[in-house]
Amino acid sequence: MILESTGRKAPPASFSEAVLSGLAPDGGLYLPVALPSFTLTEIEAMRGLPFADLAAAIAIRLLGDEFRPDVIERLVHDAFSFPVPTVEIEPGCHVLELFHGPTLAFKDFGARFLARFFGHLTSERGIEVSILVATSGDTGSAVAQGFFGVPGVSVVVLYPGGKISPFQESQMATLGGNVTAVRVPGSFDDCQRLVKSAMRDESLRGVHLSSANSINIGRLLPQAFYYFAGWTAASTSSEPVVFSVPTGNVGNLTAGVIAQRMGLPVRWFVAASNVNDVVPECLRTGAYRPRVAIPTMSNAMDVGDPNNFPRLLALHGGETGEMRRNLHGVTVTEEETRATIREVYERYGVVLDPHTAVAWKAAHEDRRQAGPGGRVITLATAHPGKFGEAIGGLLGFEPPLPPGHDGWAERPVLAIDLPDVRHETFREVLLG
Ligand SMILES: *Cc1c(COP(=O)(O)O)cnc(C)c1O
Repeated sequence: MILESTGRKAPPASFSEAVLSGLAPDGGLYLPVALPSFTLTEIEAMRGLPFADLAAAIAIRLLGDEFRPDVIERLVHDAFSFPVPTVEIEPGCHVLELFHGPTLAFKDFGARFLARFFGHLTSERGIEVSILVATSGDTGSAVAQGFFGVPGVSVVVLYPGGKISPFQESQMATLGGNVTAVRVPGSFDDCQRLVKSAMRDESLRGVHLSSANSINIGRLLPQAFYYFAGWTAASTSSEPVVFSVPTGNVGNLTAGVIAQRMGLPVRWFVAASNVNDVVPECLRTGAYRPRVAIPTMSNAMDVGDPNNFPRLLALHGGETGEMRRNLHGVTVTEEETRATIREVYERYGVVLDPHTAVAWKAAHEDRRQAGPGGRVITLATAHPGKFGEAIGGLLGFEPPLPPGHDGWAERPVLAIDLPDVRHETFREVLLG
């Protein structure tokens, strides 16, 4: 696979180079120059395949020029060792459940795929890499769990002490081994600043620092696979479907458009936002206006300047006009999110997490405006049990976490407490 930077000033890179470097040297984001295309017959032949087999078939077409098929098979099966069900909740309205991985959110797909390929590349090249991640919650836990036990890679996760949920803290700070959690006495922005200054520090060159934030192409590509899984499970003919995607940094939405470019029959996408609706606003007015995010219940979507936006635009020929035909933006308020969680539970006995509720509501709003456009598949990005308190306040009971996740509160937190937010202090931690 050959990739080019959206900045257009960096030399083309292979997938391996793009994965190891994250950001392109010109500060742009890597995108494949060309994508393989699947015929309808090939896609229909994927019906009924276990998810890992379907994912491996697509990955081989994407990356077969750089990795042996048996290596891709092994890494993909290792990464996707959990189910990915599609459930029809209402006639024609399906939910694609992406929350059965170890951290109960869809970020496991990107993090686990990236971790397996990263581990393969470092062992092949005989290098050791330290990955730095700043997190406000979900990304850090998915990356920590994804890279846990991967040889040749160590992970340092920085999180703002007291500002993430105890469950999220447990998922990144109780692992030990090759995962070091650092509790920072400050904000998410302080964490991000510490990562950036460490990456720039010449005296840390010997430590081989890299990053695994959401702009890494190795986290984005695997997200295209589950759109194929959703389509093959929900559609009964070759009809195009509508996907409703809860959006924050628009990585998930971008991956959907990549699947569409590979031949998946998609009528259009609903870009579902909470009140931080930079993308719906851009689709409505044609103007992209980043702003400071406002906190909401669907906090992983509280993004005021989505970092994957340049890719989304590039995939639509750099034109907001073409983007507006393919993406329908819908804004969902907090009140509507709460009402949706109540309504879907009362009608169908299904508990949606706040992010999924935004996309479910947006899908129905889109059907009202655009007319019933055939089947719609809503992406369910997190398990409701992760939002026990918020949902408990609405439904009168807290949805339980799935089996195997109940003992988390007893595991000891092994985080290093950073005494202050200075670069020199963090540098000493990195030098051990
Ligand atoms: C990260 C996240 C999102 C937003 O996804 P993007 O790819 O950033 O648009 C939505 N829901 C949940 C639960 C998330 O963790």
